[in-house]
Amino acid sequence: MRMITAIPEMKAAVRAVKDRKETIGFVPTMGYLHEGHLSLVRSARQKTRVTIASIFVNPTQFGPNEDFKAYPRDLDRDAAMLEREGVDLLFHPSAGEMYPEGHRTTVEVLDLQDKLCGRSRPGHFRGVCTVVLKLVEIVRPDIAFFGQKDAQQAIILKRMVRDLDLDVHLEILPIVREADGLAMSSRNTYLSPLERQAAIVLSRSLRTAEVKIGKGERRAETVLAAMREMVGRESLARVDYIEAVDMDRLDPVPEIADGTLIALAVYIGKIRLIDNLIVRLEK
Ligand code: AMP
Repeated sequence: MRMITAIPEMKAAVRAVKDRKETIGFVPTMGYLHEGHLSLVRSARQKTRVTIASIFVNPTQFGPNEDFKAYPRDLDRDAAMLEREGVDLLFHPSAGEMYPEGHRTTVEVLDLQDKLCGRSRPGHFRGVCTVVLKLVEIVRPDIAFFGQKDAQQAIILKRMVRDLDLDVHLEILPIVREADGLAMSSRNTYLSPLERQAAIVLSRSLRTAEVKIGKGERRAETVLAAMREMVGRESLARVDYIEAVDMDRLDPVPEIADGTLIALAVYIGKIRLIDNLIVRLEK
């Protein structure tokens, strides 16, 4: 695996791949890798000839009071993991390489960026869209792989790709979970042992929703109330949001239907965690 930090060098490497008429699969990450990230890499390896991963803790998607400085980083460990998975190229630019002095251009997906996580993280999705557009321009992948874990991010990026006619296909892969159900996240490493226990409440509440829906409940308010009640019983947990929305506009729906997104963000102590499920109703 070759690691590249400079944009011109990355572009040259991509040109060489394109000259060989080989397909490119791209897995953008912020590093501190876990099985969730590796599932994206494995899918890329299966579907495309050359796999490119990036590790870039993108400062513009963090709010002023968020954890940019504290975000866990371990490049050597990550690089070894990617190498083992057969990644061909690792792009690891500095913040200065991606946002040189004078950088002024951003991308926003209006409206969608203000819902769900956007309400407590203003500017977050502008940062995400801007960096993903830049990365996709640099890496020019045939397919870029993202996780359903960040459901709103996936929906917004798909909207951006359509709206800007980008020549890339986005593939969204299922959430990879710990044995007890907690969605894997680099941020889980912040949790104390007690908080780690408490964090199960996110996936448990989704499971509760699933059971209720399985028994025929279709009123969103009833399903969400059961989830809120469950999270409320966990003393270390504080709800940021629990919502049932449609996947196009991310607007709340009164009735649960096939394809409804049930998403939640919950603070466990000071750590904000997210999880979600897409409702599948049997035909
Ligand atoms: P991050 O490094 O957190 O920015 O995540 C990089 C990519 O990995 C994003 O597309 C995430 O949605 C995806 N991802 C993160 N956690 C998981 C998980 N538990 N399961 C599947 N994909 C994930």
